[in-house]
Amino acid sequence: TTHLVWFRNDLRITDNRALHAACEDPQVRVIALFIATPEQWKQHEMAPRQAMFIYQHLQALQHSLAERGIGLHYHQCDDFAESVDWLRDFCKAEKVDALFYNKQYEFNERQRDAALENAVSESVICHAFDDSLLLPPGSVTTGNNEMYKVYTPFRRAFLSRLTESDSRSLPAPPARENAGKVVIHRLMPFDYPLADIGDDFAIGEEAARHQLRSFCREQVQDYLEQRDLPAVDGTSSLSPYLAIGVLSPRQCLNRLRTECPDVLEKTDGGAFGWLNELVWREFYRHLIVAWPKLCKHQPFVEWTDNVRWRHAPEELQAWKDGKTGYPIVDAAMRQLNATGWMHNRLRMIVASFLVKDLLINWREGERYFMSQLLDGDLAANNGGWQWGASTGTDAAPYFRIFNPTTQGERFDKAGRFIKAWVPELADVPERDIHQPHRWAEKHHRVLDYPQPVIDHARARKDTLAAFEAAKNRS
Ligand code: FAD
Repeated sequence: TTHLVWFRNDLRITDNRALHAACEDPQVRVIALFIATPEQWKQHEMAPRQAMFIYQHLQALQHSLAERGIGLHYHQCDDFAESVDWLRDFCKAEKVDALFYNKQYEFNERQRDAALENAVSESVICHAFDDSLLLPPGSVTTGNNEMYKVYTPFRRAFLSRLTESDSRSLPAPPARENAGKVVIHRLMPFDYPLADIGDDFAIGEEAARHQLRSFCREQVQDYLEQRDLPAVDGTSSLSPYLAIGVLSPRQCLNRLRTECPDVLEKTDGGAFGWLNELVWREFYRHLIVAWPKLCKHQPFVEWTDNVRWRHAPEELQAWKDGKTGYPIVDAAMRQLNATGWMHNRLRMIVASFLVKDLLINWREGERYFMSQLLDGDLAANNGGWQWGASTGTDAAPYFRIFNPTTQGERFDKAGRFIKAWVPELADVPERDIHQPHRWAEKHHRVLDYPQPVIDHARARKDTLAAFEAAKNRS
């Protein structure tokens, strides 16, 4: 008997439900597979950094599987449609009896899996697992059996279901008995741009687990005080690992419970605050399954499609380059461009700036983020953008418009974060850092830093008018 484990965005051996199930019978032959689909990735705007992160984790996975007597096969084809055809033939050639995989919840991915199951239905038994979430989509619903549209009641229902569910982490499978030595072939780099990822994010499950452990042990208590301060390393920075499944949310939950056993009772504590973010992650994934239109560039709130967005390519470019003349926005965008990661508070600020100050279509921002983020994740990214743009369910109301100057003053008071990323402002004193041109004028200094691309007070009025007009047209 041959079991095939098809890895996708679950690049780990610990607490991997599909792998665990495939290995349960020690007698069967287990093989593993990863299929790269560069054309599909291009369509999904995957960041070259994330492609590199996947490639490096694939190498790590290949080694850990080999130690357990499981060979990793690797194939590259253009897109999902081609991968289905190829996989059908592969199953035949390898005489696969059962296929094991963990579900992905995005629209194209679900269609691919349905097509595959159909294509192999006569000879292969398929086992699909809910693995990348604490609770499967569709399992947390209102009294009418519908998905919640508002977060807080979702969380309430979610947490009460969570306490009833089995969220134990599974161990990595033991080495296969009778498996011969597995030869490790060099994995060809993907035919996709691969970008350097620096050394902020170490490679491997072990590194991710270590980071999780030390965050839960040493930092989570202070999460609520620190999570909004970009100059402080106060959040877990685990998102790149969660996005490609090097770490599972169950591992996060269980580690949190081990370090903070009263997490569910002490709802005003840092541990609960962090759990709350993991639940936001679940909320957005549940939403894309309930409303597949979210995977198709459509807003949740339909009337928002009537907003007349500005066509302003130069301002869009200034935003991308971190040259808007608003220090907190520019520092944030430069952090993103240089590292592929951005602090959550800053993601909210730059999203609001693009949509509510520049009145540029949120889809431009969503796309640009995807093309840069190491933690790019359709559900979380779309959720974050639709929240900031006021086009999503339970989003910021459209009349809530961040003032980029006061946001900077609140969350990066002394400008430590700004100075780390915008060296042109090195000489500007702390109290003037958020309005550097005012300071420069007063002191007759010349700054090599752009003037604000837009006047916030005027932009605010224009945006309110544009949203109101759109609402009236609906
Ligand atoms: P922590 O604060 O330590 O949180 C722990 C984990 O919870 C994160 O790793 C992440 O998996 C999850 N999480 C935290 N906040 C959110 C949230 N608001 N929504 C969903 N999940 C959350 N997150 C992504 O993983 N990928 C994205 O592509 C992405 N795009 C975003 C775009 C915008 C416009 C906004 C406002 C937010 C986006 N987020 C995205 C959510 C959030 O900003 C990041 O998850 C977070 O900053 C990652 O840092 P961390 O791991 O230190 O988070």
